[in-house]
Amino acid sequence: MSELNLILIGPPGAGKGTQADRLRDDFRLPFISTGEMLRANVKDGTELGLQAKRHMDSGGLVPDELIVAMVADRLHQGDAQDGFILDGFPRTTGQADALARQLRDQGRRITAALLIDVPDAEVVRRISGRRVCVKAGHNYHVDFDPPKTEGICDQDGSRLIQRDDDRPDVVQNRLDTYHAKTAPLIDYYDEQGLLRRIDGTRSPAEVHDHIRAVIATLRLEDDV
Ligand code: ADP
Ligand code: ADP
Repeated sequence: MSELNLILIGPPGAGKGTQADRLRDDFRLPFISTGEMLRANVKDGTELGLQAKRHMDSGGLVPDELIVAMVADRLHQGDAQDGFILDGFPRTTGQADALARQLRDQGRRITAALLIDVPDAEVVRRISGRRVCVKAGHNYHVDFDPPKTEGICDQDGSRLIQRDDDRPDVVQNRLDTYHAKTAPLIDYYDEQGLLRRIDGTRSPAEVHDHIRAVIATLRLEDDV
């Protein structure tokens, strides 16, 4: 069976991380989140983290050259050779071109770009209630997906906090950045026949079922 090289696209708070967690278990693919990688760099105080933090805190994007180099390194690692799920990358057409070039050099290509589509008002509702665990970044929502014990991660028992960039004054900037810089990728992948649209307003379980059905179809198409 050929490899699955998947991209998740969608506005901040669309449910990409929530779905990636489920897909990782289903398909045993490495899940690569540039947001998580950047937050780890900020936490560790690396040079990249220091450079990235001010862009992240304002709701803007970290410059392409920094991100492209970080992802290129990650995709060269052994576990990404048989497929991957990318969450939060590419976020600009420049990043998408760089990714296509890198994969082409390795004789590989993107299998599909899954768009998790959610309107802005719902994004704001989701982000304002999002809580993440300090240990591994597991996602919860105070109303839509609460933990069993308030403030504590079900999966690893660590504390739940609100991300700095989930505060209301930054959220609108992130949405503006999404519409200006990332939404053009929808047409970009559609023109290449790679885009698959998922209605992200449904429950996490329904979104998950839809994505799995899309992936099953992709595999069938690929095997023919
Ligand atoms: P979200 O949960 O909103 O989708 P992420 O966790 O993916 O957010 O990203 C958090 C922040 O990290 C972004 O607002 C941006 O500043 C930075 N970032 C993440 N991925 C990229 C990328 N591919 N290009 C530029 N900046 C990025
Ligand atoms: P992203 O990775 O796209 O930024 P997340 O997966 O972190 O998004 O989801 C954002 C917030 O919305 C989280 O608090 C999550 O629990 C919640 N959420 C995710 N999917 C759904 C859904 N289908 N319906 C309602 N809430 C959701």
